[in-house]
Amino acid sequence: MKHVSHWIGGKSWPGTSGATGDIYDPATGQVTGTVDFASATEVDAAVSAATEAAAGWRNASLARRAGVMFAFRELVRTHAGELAALISSEHGKVTSDAAGEVARGLEVAEFACGIPHLLKGSYSENVSTQVDAYSIRQPLGVVAGITPFNFPAMVPMWMFPIAIACGNAFVLKPSEKDPSASVLLAELLAEAGLPDGVFSVLHGDAVAVNALLGHPGVAAVSFVGSTPIAKHVYETATATGKRVQALGGAKNHMVVLADADLDNAADAAVSAGFGSAGERCMAISVVVAVDPVADELVGKIAERVARLRVGPGTDERAEMGPLVTGPHRDRVAGYLDSGVREGAVLAVDGRTHPVSGGEPGGFWLGPSILDHVTPDMACYTDEIFGPVLSVVRVPSHDAALDLVNANPYGNGVAIFTAGGGAARRFVSEVTVGMVGVNVPIPVPMAYYSFGGWKSSLFGDTHMHGTEGVHFYTRGKAVTSRWPEPGPGSVSLKFPVSN
Ligand code: NAD
Repeated sequence: MKHVSHWIGGKSWPGTSGATGDIYDPATGQVTGTVDFASATEVDAAVSAATEAAAGWRNASLARRAGVMFAFRELVRTHAGELAALISSEHGKVTSDAAGEVARGLEVAEFACGIPHLLKGSYSENVSTQVDAYSIRQPLGVVAGITPFNFPAMVPMWMFPIAIACGNAFVLKPSEKDPSASVLLAELLAEAGLPDGVFSVLHGDAVAVNALLGHPGVAAVSFVGSTPIAKHVYETATATGKRVQALGGAKNHMVVLADADLDNAADAAVSAGFGSAGERCMAISVVVAVDPVADELVGKIAERVARLRVGPGTDERAEMGPLVTGPHRDRVAGYLDSGVREGAVLAVDGRTHPVSGGEPGGFWLGPSILDHVTPDMACYTDEIFGPVLSVVRVPSHDAALDLVNANPYGNGVAIFTAGGGAARRFVSEVTVGMVGVNVPIPVPMAYYSFGGWKSSLFGDTHMHGTEGVHFYTRGKAVTSRWPEPGPGSVSLKFPVSN
């Protein structure tokens, strides 16, 4: 049985609160370890180590900070297989998918290697006679990140490479369900030359999160998780004057117009609906079939779903693993029953899908399709976060757009069509933060920014890209004058340029 401890001040820090949580292998259903849960005392220890480290780190040269990021990038590449295996053993996703999240997270570290360029200010000579003006961006101090179970490496890497490269110290509170990847990342940052205390990991639950949200030493909070907790984090942390970006849940629609290539659309719906067992914030959970494509499209999706290989993440042939916990699997399966009760048609029942090589105690649920779903059903209104694809049939492009725009979430959306004009109008009018045109999972590259609209984001700033640099820094505008020696004059007039 493994035991996962905190990482504070550049070293492993055994918990003192006495509270712990179990870590499961979702493919077997067995407990494989325990993780320490932080109390307010350990939160204090991490924040004070971070505060001390931040004072020196903000003055480290840009070359040094970039150098640490370059070294970290190489180390993550070397340990990518180990990271992917750790993620798979605690999250359940197949190893190739886990390797994919490490690669996408690493793109943000690569972006952060360019910090000397990203932090460049501007300079204007002679804004007034013999007066110059310039702008700089400075780090905030200690910033915290609170992350969900579904991307235990990538989502923390959306945050800390940029925060650290900007000169901050970062305290990470990862999901208690799959905590090991964050400790390996901490070890790699230390090996890359990051000074002790600049990166800390605190494990735990709401107790640790709430202590961070109220801590006067924390200047800003980045959060990714479900909408109710995102809202709680935003309201609590802004009430104590912190800067907050809190990314919440999602209900991502894929609109298929009548002129779309239906084989292409079916491939995309299956890949984006069932990859990582639907436990992705950008997973497609609703296919919006515009008349008359629905029957043919559902048939093509069902054919592909029947061929999916479900099995443990360690099996290289497996395409979809188990769900993260038993209660989550049961909750997701519950939507199949409620959908049918409310009038949907269970076109494919994942509960009967074969599992190749899985142990019976694993948290298995195969891919399911609920057809003839309507917007009033719980399987449509709720974020299911599992391998269930709902199909809503609508008469027109306008009806599809109205449906998506009426949904309270606004994380991702996709349109499949052969028509440039229709796609362009959709992109312009849809109220969603990340839009794909014939691309089902439009996750922006590291140099753009990631974030939704409406109930998928509380705060104004999206993650990574230049918005990430802005979130983790604040601007200062400097006006300077070096007058020639000699007599001046007193003037009480408001200064205007001349
Ligand atoms: P979650 O909201 O349950 O947990 C997220 C974090 O908050 C964890 O670290 C957890 O320990 C902490 N937490 C949980 N309950 C808390 C409470 N009552 N008070 C304070 N902190 C609490 O989310 P999850 O189940 O780990 O992850 C899945 C959710 O994350 C889904 O809703 C998914 O859509 C969302 N998600 C969103 C994005 C995005 O970019 N918008 C990305 C990934 C995941």
